Amino acid sequence: MTTSPNFIFLDRDGTIIRDIGYPHKPEHIEFLPDAVEGLLLLQGQGYRFIMVTNQAGIARGIYSEKEAIEFTNAVERELAEKGVHILKTYFCPHHPDFTGACECRKPKPGLALQAAQEYNISLQKSFFVGDKDSDVEFGRNCCGITFRIANDLYPSTVAPHYEVKNILEVYTILTNVDKLKITPPIHDHV
Ligand SMILES: [Mg+2]
Ligand SMILES: [Zn+2]
Repeated sequence: MTTSPNFIFLDRDGTIIRDIGYPHKPEHIEFLPDAVEGLLLLQGQGYRFIMVTNQAGIARGIYSEKEAIEFTNAVERELAEKGVHILKTYFCPHHPDFTGACECRKPKPGLALQAAQEYNISLQKSFFVGDKDSDVEFGRNCCGITFRIANDLYPSTVAPHYEVKNILEVYTILTNVDKLKITPPIHDHV
């Protein structure tokens, strides 16, 4: 029997690497505790990863689009060296105050819709992990299951399906859903 892989949409800053405020240089890469271990374990269970990141630092002129691409490539490369494969990173270079509205900035689902087309992903069956309200709303806008990495940096006013300490805890929850007989939450807006 073949089953299609499950996909996890991962935020980057504050989820995989520390959010130091517009990280964009190789020396800014600092993996969060248990993030890589969690990703390796999830990957071992057959989960596939898509990274989606708002990079308003481009719109703000803090760094160029080229620098942003080089940086996220460096993050992917360091993850690959540790055995974690990211299928693709999608980013939004915009900010409404500087470049006007766009369809790709989270919480809008634009980049997930793009990934869904490219990789034939069912978003309703996907999981979304991030550290901000915009990540949780992004996942909900895609009708997926949402995880929020608990943090003191950003206020939380939108409830995720699961609040977690780190990506390792995402693994613990996803691998125990059946065993613990946890019913995946029903979406109220579907
Ligand atoms: Mg983030
Ligand atoms: Zn955008």
